[in-house]
Amino acid sequence: MTNIMMKTASLQDDRPSLADIAVEISAMNKWYGEFHVLRDINLTVQRGERIVICGPSGSGKSTMIRCINRLEEHQAGKIVVDGIELTNDLKKIEEVRREVGMVFQHFNLFPHLTILQNCTLAPIWVRKMPQKEARELAMHFLEKVKIPDQAHKYPGQLSGGQQQRVAIARALCMKPRLMLFDEPTSALDPEMIKEVLDTMIALAEEGMTMLCVTHEMGFAQAVANRVIFMDRGQIVEQNEPKAFFGAPQSERTRAFLSQIL
Ligand code: ADP
Ligand code: MG
Repeated sequence: MTNIMMKTASLQDDRPSLADIAVEISAMNKWYGEFHVLRDINLTVQRGERIVICGPSGSGKSTMIRCINRLEEHQAGKIVVDGIELTNDLKKIEEVRREVGMVFQHFNLFPHLTILQNCTLAPIWVRKMPQKEARELAMHFLEKVKIPDQAHKYPGQLSGGQQQRVAIARALCMKPRLMLFDEPTSALDPEMIKEVLDTMIALAEEGMTMLCVTHEMGFAQAVANRVIFMDRGQIVEQNEPKAFFGAPQSERTRAFLSQIL
């Protein structure tokens, strides 16, 4: 067993693994009213894979990852997460959401709850975890993101970078099998970007399955198994980072990369 796999086992619990494939999206299409926002998306994510999604603003990146935990509904094709197909079945949606952690651009912490309460809320109410255990788990992850000393403050008392690390710790408290990140550093001042990226790199090194929408190409090069480029609702190109950055195949990818690199 490799070192990374052993670490994965310690990060996650003893639930049986349902599937080696974390996410399978096939022939998926989505419309907002008349607007065809996602076109024939096909994407298979193996367990333990780390995928970076990039592309111009408005290309459908957020919509695509929000479909994976049903924050948005798709109208055609199929999305299977951890062996569970996403349909209108609310029980299945809840089941998927318990396994999928999400971190947004704007942290989305509850302002009236302390950092610790933000982290224990879902484990207590959704996973029915005893309070003491939830608090211990929260402190464990707050230590991991290097802010245990902030546990009793409120989100408004923390910097943006600290708040985003709390958001990551909060998601981890649900023991997710998959983490979705939607531009987690794009609302942060430059000096705070690194501390959040370092947290994400540590998570990647522990074997977490991750889908990250980000334009942090250094991060992509350091941890991604695959980089996906989206444009106008389609996956235009995907490759391992070296080939993706070194020899982009499509003209649209080249044009995009020349703007951001
Ligand atoms: P990205 O994350 O790549 O910037 P989005 O997924 O947010 O792109 O948006 C893709 C397109 O869908 C954009 O043209 C956006 O204006 C549109 N869109 C996003 N959310 C909605 C919505 N709730 N209703 C209608 N159009 C939307
Ligand atoms: Mg977006």
